[in-house]
Parts: sequence; C-alpha cells; structure tokens
Amino acid sequence: MRNLSLLGATGSIGRSTLDLVRRYPEEVRVVGLTAHQQVAALAAVVTEFRPAVAAIADPALLPELMERVGATATELVAGPAGLEQVATLPECDTVLAAIVGGAGLAPTLAAARAGKDVALANKEALVMAGDLFLAEMAAGGGRLIPVDSEHSAVYQCLQGCRAEDVRRIILTASGGPFHGHPEIDLTTVTRAQALAHPNWSMGEKISIDSATLMNKGLEVIEARHLFISDGAEATIEVVVHPESIVHSIVELRDGQMLAQLGRPDMRGPIAYALTGPRRVAGVTERLDLTATPLHFTAPDLDRFPCLRLGFAALAAGGPLPCVLNGANETAVAAFLANRLPFTAIPAVIETAMAACTCPPPATLDEILALDSWARARASEAVAKMR
Ligand code: NDP
Repeated sequence: MRNLSLLGATGSIGRSTLDLVRRYPEEVRVVGLTAHQQVAALAAVVTEFRPAVAAIADPALLPELMERVGATATELVAGPAGLEQVATLPECDTVLAAIVGGAGLAPTLAAARAGKDVALANKEALVMAGDLFLAEMAAGGGRLIPVDSEHSAVYQCLQGCRAEDVRRIILTASGGPFHGHPEIDLTTVTRAQALAHPNWSMGEKISIDSATLMNKGLEVIEARHLFISDGAEATIEVVVHPESIVHSIVELRDGQMLAQLGRPDMRGPIAYALTGPRRVAGVTERLDLTATPLHFTAPDLDRFPCLRLGFAALAAGGPLPCVLNGANETAVAAFLANRLPFTAIPAVIETAMAACTCPPPATLDEILALDSWARARASEAVAKMR
C-alpha cells in the first residue's frame, strides 16, 4: 500500500491518478493533495479522499477552500509552504509530482530531500535542475520513478539490463496534430488547432509542447538525467511514431531492441510507477495488434525546430536546459493567450538561449533566478515579435 501525496491533483495526470486510487483502493491511499486555483475541484477531491493535508497554491483561495470543504479532519493550508508541507508529510511515502512547469520544482525537490519516493510527471523540474534534483534524491534515499510514458517505457525495458549494455535510447514522439499535414501553414495555426492532440488527452501546456515537439526536446534532457550516467556511451534519439503505441525503445550492445507497447493511456505508466515491479490487473484496455499498423519516421527538425533546441540545450548543458524551459513556458503562455504566432515559439526560445552568458546554476535559488532571467528575456522577445 502506497501512502500518496499528489501534487497537481486537479490536472490531467492528477485526475488519472485519482481514477486509479478509486479503482485500486487496496494499492494506494491518498494522504495529501494540492491544486493551484481550481478550488471547487480540489474541495471535491478533499471531501472524497479525506487526506491528512490539502494545499491550495494560491493563498487568496484558502478561505473559499475552507468554506467549500466545511467541517473536516483534513488540515487545509496554502501557498509555497503549504505545497511543501504536503510534499514532506511524515505519513507519506510516495509523492506523485504532477504540477505543470517550473512551479513544481520547489515542492518536488522538498519531497526528494525528505526521502520520499518521487513518481515524476513534472519533467520541467528535472530539466531545470537535473544535477541538484538527482543529488537531493540520492541524499534523501528515495526512489525516482518516471511517469512520463516514454521514460516509463525505458525504465520498464531496462529492468534486468546492465547499464553498460545500453547503446541507444529511442524516444518515440506522436508528432502532434501537425505531423503528416504539410498542407497546414504553421504560421497561422490557432490555439484550438494546436491543442487538438490526435492521441493523448492532456493539459494545455504539454499539448502545445507536443505540437511544437518541445515536449520531446524536454524529454531528451529528462532521459539523459534518468538513464545515462556521466561518461556512458549510450545516445538518445527520437523517432516519430504517430500511433503512440510503442512508448519507447532501448537498443542494447548486441543489436537487440526492447520496446514497451500499450494504449495511449497515462493510467498505464502511473499505475506502474505506484505498484511496479508488481502489475495490477486491468489497468488499461488491451491492445489488438492486428488492428494497429505501426509506423516510424525521422522527425522534421526544420518544420519543428524546438526539438533541435532541446538537443542543443542537452549538448551544451550548464544553464541552457533551464533557460530553454523558462523561455518555452513564457512562449507557450503567450501563444495560448493569442499574443504570439505558433512559429514564433522556437524563435523566442532561441533568442533567450543565445543571450545567455550565465554560469551554471547550482542551488535552488540560483536555478529560480536563472528561470526568472530566461522568462524576462523571453517576454522581451515576445513583445518584439507580436
Ligand atoms: P494540467 O495543466 O492538466 O494540470 C496541472 C496541475 O498543476 C493542476 O493541478 C494545477 O492546478 C497545478 N498547477 C498549475 N500551476 C500551478 C502553480 N503555479 N502552483 C501549484 N500548482 C499548479 O497538466 P498535466 O496534468 O497535463 O501535466 C502535469 C505534468 O505532467 C506536466 O509537467 C506535464 O509535462 C507532465 N506530463 C503530463 C502528461 C499528460 O498526459 N497530461 C503526460 C506526461 C507528462 P489547478 O488545476 O488548480 O490550476
């Protein structure tokens, strides 16, 4: 039985996780929940799951949360300290980090430091703070378990493999809504078109990242931190696989490849992160392979330059992954607010990366300062490109 604190309970990953808790109550008990501003949705799940503590990130909404929940044994808290309290609860052994973006970094690091097992969906936290994050996990002694479907696939394939035998990690990408549609003029695509992912139902930010291929750019950096130690020979590559059935592939020294397949349903990797290596029955619908042709093609880095930027940040290291992430969050928010064309997203990120002469950040304060710097440069670039 896992005692779970769920950071980002009201989002897409949060809702899928709570669906699993309802279906497998003997596997997971919720002890902590958080949300940002969806106070009614948080109040509903607090009433249903009765955690020890629930936090609303926006402190102005704490009175409304208290009013909506009414008399309760749950301690209701707010703000950054509240999120941290939920992430470090003594009765919690596992934290599922499902806040979107850099906002998830501080509470997820707190969970790592407190020795919790961290099931990580919040890839941005690892991209921003990879070395610090891994050092905090090692010092705390908890396990870091990927939830991202591609990284869960690699993690599952690597069970029983020796690290020195890994030659290539091949992350699959759906390609997003515009792959295979060369007739679509990307300079004029709308918010609604970019949000309409063909296979996955996800939050808005990751949906746009999937459309630009920045999601894969973030994921190559995430994979490096999770699976490849310094000095190892293994490489990371990306193939576009529009069916989203093969979630990723590992190639070994002898030329053999291992892959993990399943329906595009995040409940598969979430359940594995919470119960693995044990499997629970019937998490996702079964797959009929005879009804599912599988295709693989190379990504188009000219049409989707964000993936090229992700590889460039990975190769350069130092401050650039953090700058890439902060500038991307700013550019995506501007696109979602109809303040920036779709094709200007990579241009904004590239401008911030090119302007960076900052030293590599080492502490959380330095990482947050660099993140603010990147967002400010990106905001300036957005203002010029409108
Ligand atoms: P959503 O946008 O659906 O949900 C985000 C969650 O984070 C919500 O609970 C939201 O609260 C909370 N949140 C947002 N801003 C803040 C903030 N400033 N402080 C505290 N909490 C905040 O995102 P997803 O569930 O789609 O994604 C979550 C993470 O998982 C991302 O890092 C994403 O890349 C990753 N991921 C998602 C996948 C998916 O299928 N959705 C697949 C693989 C990875 P509120 O609702 O109150 O705003």
